[in-house]
Amino acid sequence: MWDVIVVGAGPAGLSAALLLGRARRRVLVIDSGEPRNKVARSVNGFLGADGVSPHELRARGREQCRAFGVGFVDGRVIDVRSHPVEAGWPTCFEVQTADGQTRECRKLLFATGVRDTLPDIPGLVECYGITVHHCPYCDGWEHRDRVLAAVGKSAAAAMKLATTLLGWSGMVLVLSNGDALDESERTRAEATGLRILDEPIQSIVHEQGHLREVVFDDGTTTNVDALFFSTGQTRPCELPERLGCHIGKNDRVGTTDKQGTCVTGVFLAGDADGDTQFAIVAAAEGATAAVALNDEILKENADQLAKASSL
Ligand SMILES: Cc1cc2nc3c(=O)[nH]c(=O)nc-3n(C[C@H](O)[C@H](O)[C@H](O)COP(=O)(O)OP(=O)(O)OC[C@H]3O[C@@H](n4cnc5c(N)ncnc54)[C@H](O)[C@@H]3O)c2cc1C
Repeated sequence: MWDVIVVGAGPAGLSAALLLGRARRRVLVIDSGEPRNKVARSVNGFLGADGVSPHELRARGREQCRAFGVGFVDGRVIDVRSHPVEAGWPTCFEVQTADGQTRECRKLLFATGVRDTLPDIPGLVECYGITVHHCPYCDGWEHRDRVLAAVGKSAAAAMKLATTLLGWSGMVLVLSNGDALDESERTRAEATGLRILDEPIQSIVHEQGHLREVVFDDGTTTNVDALFFSTGQTRPCELPERLGCHIGKNDRVGTTDKQGTCVTGVFLAGDADGDTQFAIVAAAEGATAAVALNDEILKENADQLAKASSL
């Protein structure tokens, strides 16, 4: 019986596991090896490790966790069940991985992240993580004062993103991709210096991931150095709701300020809860969850000892 099984070994899961390991809990981390930022070259804005490679951050995290006895399994969790109460513990879960193995734990932490929906534009995938990004705060600095373009789910979403990009460059294009833009929005945007291109996008021309130009359906082109998009996300793991977790706004699992869910013993941290999405925030949420998880376990241990001594 593990004290805690952590599903997901990104910054959120590893940060929780590190603290729980240091708190002498028996912790197992199960990870399917598909981190959100696998195409990124660096994790920017992570205090003390700005620019570290995502792979190195995760590898260092695993190594540090192992020093405190945390166990790791590579695999996908495909099912979780709340178990009948065993050994006097108020909560107990059975976790099944794709290889058919099951493991038991007293508490569960989901740190399973999100998946980004990429715009369906030929050539874009090849540039993703190099000159195509979703977050100006993560990658804006590297493309400062260059020609930037914004693409959204709608023209209004592209406009919103483009307005943010003005913080990094004075040459920002709104690519409405054929979607109509409200006239007052258009006037306001142009007053702030944004340039709006309305034609549907046909493809992206690049050299080994370095964006050169955007080609439109009418055959015209425009030079662009970097493109930012905001076209939505999905959740890669729907197991929390199978356990009864409440799905709140933006299709995200609702959490408390201690990363708890409405199901006792089940916690959720990192990008998966829909809050601000940075590696350092995910790590902080993992740490918050770890303290709350450990508090619950210590309280239950004390309750059980008190019960035993009163018999
Ligand atoms: C291209 C790109 C660049 C980015 N750049 C930056 C940046 O520069 N700075 C920054 O702060 N942030 C950046 N981010 C955001 C950052 O990557 C995330 O905020 C961070 O990774 C979130 O951590 P997490 O632990 O919540 O999720 P993740 O890092 O996505 O980890 C989730 C883990 O859960 C695993 N998992 C999911 N479902 C299961 C399951 N059922 N069973 C087992 N394992 C499962 C996945 O395999 C994955 O390893 C970037 C994101 C992208 C996409």
